[in-house]
Amino acid sequence: MTKLDSFSNIRERLLKGELKVFDLCKDLIEEIRSKNDFNIFLEIFETSALEKAKEVDKKVQEGSAGSLAGMIVSIKDNICYKGHTVSSSSHILESFESLFSSTVVDRLLAEDAIIIGRTNCDEFAMGSSNENSFFGPVKNPLNPAKTPGGSSGGAAASVAAGLCHIALGSDTGGSIRQPASFTGTIGLKPTYGRVSRHGLVAYSSSMDQIGPLGTDLRDIALVMEVISGGDEFDSTCSSRLVPKYSASLSTEKKKYKLAFLDSHLNHEGLSKEVKSRTEELINSLKEEGHEVEVEKFDLLDQLVPIYQVISTAEASSNLARYDGIHFGHRSKEATDLYTTYVKSRTEGFGKEVKRRIMLGTYVLSEGYYDAYFGKAQKVRRLVKDRTNEILDKFDFIISPTTPHTAFDLGAQTDDPIKMYLEDIFTVQANLAGIPSISLPLGESDHMPFGIQLMGKSFEEQELMSFSNYLINTAAFKSAAIQP
Ligand code: GLN
Repeated sequence: MTKLDSFSNIRERLLKGELKVFDLCKDLIEEIRSKNDFNIFLEIFETSALEKAKEVDKKVQEGSAGSLAGMIVSIKDNICYKGHTVSSSSHILESFESLFSSTVVDRLLAEDAIIIGRTNCDEFAMGSSNENSFFGPVKNPLNPAKTPGGSSGGAAASVAAGLCHIALGSDTGGSIRQPASFTGTIGLKPTYGRVSRHGLVAYSSSMDQIGPLGTDLRDIALVMEVISGGDEFDSTCSSRLVPKYSASLSTEKKKYKLAFLDSHLNHEGLSKEVKSRTEELINSLKEEGHEVEVEKFDLLDQLVPIYQVISTAEASSNLARYDGIHFGHRSKEATDLYTTYVKSRTEGFGKEVKRRIMLGTYVLSEGYYDAYFGKAQKVRRLVKDRTNEILDKFDFIISPTTPHTAFDLGAQTDDPIKMYLEDIFTVQANLAGIPSISLPLGESDHMPFGIQLMGKSFEEQELMSFSNYLINTAAFKSAAIQP
């Protein structure tokens, strides 16, 4: 779908001044407007984007431009940008203006990227289809009857529709990788603690991570280089050295060791096409001399339940701050403190967010804490230990990203359990805190689907490097649709 050349492809022309950042930015703003029906962007930051574009053109002339000079980036509507609205696609924050910028935005701007606008998402990043947005669903640019996935549906669609080079999304249980799979794009969820969460509207703080979606791995590597690394405003963010990711993307024929998990490929919900294409890839990797072995994994059925218990518990605490007093919407019907809380929250939150707040409050409540939250924490430890045990023996774990391709809009909205099971293959990386990427592997019925790789903690470099090798192999290229 995308006709936009990747940033890495045009970088030289930008740096020589042959292509003006201002013109590129203006064209893309037009393009975004022309695709309004897809409901991808909630707002175009026209004034600030064009102002920045002018400034970058000047810097290019002076030879002082940053490493992302001219890269056009969209941000998910849960990432703060000072002086700009951030609503988390919720009525409760509908007109809330950020008082500060997130660390990722500050770092992108410092390297002269252009933030072109904020993208639609599921309310507070809770969902798998973007249908939980107060502002309505996003349509998949590859087929408007289908969902682009969620919760970073607008982010993935903005890239797939060729409206920006990179989209920043957030991934708590798969929200970058599942939309990437549904739109034929690349999406990376970094290791927990690789990228600062400062200025990301919190959903589930022990799993939330910001990460990039794009169509070119080189662009993703460049952005990771800029947004990763320690931050005094996020104590969970690691100050480990950030490798020069963009310089280490190889197509070198190293022999890798990969595991695939029996439970994943035998999962009953896995579509025939996704399964056979994944098996084909596994076979061709073996033929190329890589070691690919099956590993037993007994915890697949526990993954979504424990993810739901932990994430809703953390969400119920994080979302307590929206009380009609500190942030956002206050009910006009409120007459005292109690009605301010109750009516503002009742009016401000959507159905799915309310469901999760109640579920989270329940699993944390006296008498149920040990049975649900405490138990889920223990099983999370088992998942983490087992995953790391496998990764001690192998370089990567390979699996489908999603059990099937994008489903029709409206098809699953009445069945929350079915919707939760969309995350079956993605939540493991969040529970274990490890990095994971989705690459467009193939298509079924003219819709794309992805292959997921999980790597060792803080080994994004190896993960991206192997991804780069993989997408350049003949076996991969032949079946992958170009977004
Ligand atoms: N789809 C998952 C959910 O509904 C993941 C969301 C996310 O990663 N933000 O919770």
